[in-house]
Amino acid sequence: MIPSVLPTYKRAPLAFSKGEGSWLIEEDGRRFLDFGSGIAVNSLGHCHPAIVRALAGQAENLWHVSNLYQIPQQRELADKLVSNSFADTVFFTNSGTESCELAIKMARKRFFDANQPERTEIIAFEGAFHGRSSAGIAAAGSEAMTRGFGPLLPGFKHLPFGEHEAVEDAIDENTAAIVVEPVQGEGGIRLLPDQCLKGLRDLCDKHQILLILDEVQCGMGRTGRLFAHEWAGISPDIMMVAKGIGSGFPLGAVLATERAASGMTVGTHGSTYGGNPLACAVGNAVFDIVADKSFLNEVNRKASMLRQKLEGLVAEHPDVFESARGHGLMLGLVCRKAPADVVSSCYDAEIIAVPAANNTLRLLPPLTVTDEEISEAVERLHTAARAIEGKSGD
Ligand SMILES: *Cc1c(COP(=O)(O)O)cnc(C)c1O
Repeated sequence: MIPSVLPTYKRAPLAFSKGEGSWLIEEDGRRFLDFGSGIAVNSLGHCHPAIVRALAGQAENLWHVSNLYQIPQQRELADKLVSNSFADTVFFTNSGTESCELAIKMARKRFFDANQPERTEIIAFEGAFHGRSSAGIAAAGSEAMTRGFGPLLPGFKHLPFGEHEAVEDAIDENTAAIVVEPVQGEGGIRLLPDQCLKGLRDLCDKHQILLILDEVQCGMGRTGRLFAHEWAGISPDIMMVAKGIGSGFPLGAVLATERAASGMTVGTHGSTYGGNPLACAVGNAVFDIVADKSFLNEVNRKASMLRQKLEGLVAEHPDVFESARGHGLMLGLVCRKAPADVVSSCYDAEIIAVPAANNTLRLLPPLTVTDEEISEAVERLHTAARAIEGKSGD
């Protein structure tokens, strides 16, 4: 019999009843260090007092009104995003998938309005993840996500991740945009080197097409800059954001330049919930903390501390781990054992980590994680690794 909850998820046998900062607590009091953050969502950890205040304060006044009316909280957050990024304008969504939908529509509309309606094609990369809508799975293109869900939204070309020559060859008179994650998350914490990102920007300029960055997972401070592309010194035309922007409240956004967004006039797109007062009250509170320079400096300092400890962990357990990689607090351990087994060993050691493709274990602690929690987490990872070594030694 089908369960009452549609069985599309493979769930761990864990149920938490409370969250406190970097900790998740089960009903019986068992405390887990949360180095998954709900897949890079809880950027400020669990129940951060500033966002609890923002949420509760807004909840007592007004939750939802619809985008038929002015929403000052939305305008305030858009202004902040615009003054702290490449963007001239922002549309609010409820998720990464919805941000992906708009990014694709926006790129196509831009060329339609520029009398180049043939430019509809978007170049994407293997191993990418852009969400689970029909456009999102077509954009990512993997068999695992698309099989059985056809006919797929047409207009995507898929290239091997990081193969620069293939990109220029793939651009033709029908190309509208390139979409890429500066750091692949689901794909296994695979970094696009700064040089590659610069190269993609140059190609887009040369061929007058749009660069769309998917910063749903790597944005909002995760890599130690507000947005990951800042490290490469380039900017996109359109950017998808979600996950960390609401620190647990469903919120997403598409940021764009005026030129890229020029087709999106009244009536061309909308969302019932997107950017409602409750979501934006939280978004503003999150932004004020995460966008602060000294907060981001701390993220970088803690990230290099964690990275160094992870290198030590890899060196000490060469049969379990192959290498550490990533950027900022978006880190991955490439495993020599099945990542699912490593994850379950982590649960036994009371630390939460998230599996990803390409044999990778993701470590995505809250950006507010403390030095002590980092040390404790690495201790627990050692414990998890030793348990696996013990098993394979039998
Ligand atoms: C999670 C994710 C998405 C999809 O976001 P949802 O909120 O699950 O719809 C899209 N792109 C990237 C890079 C992601 O990590």
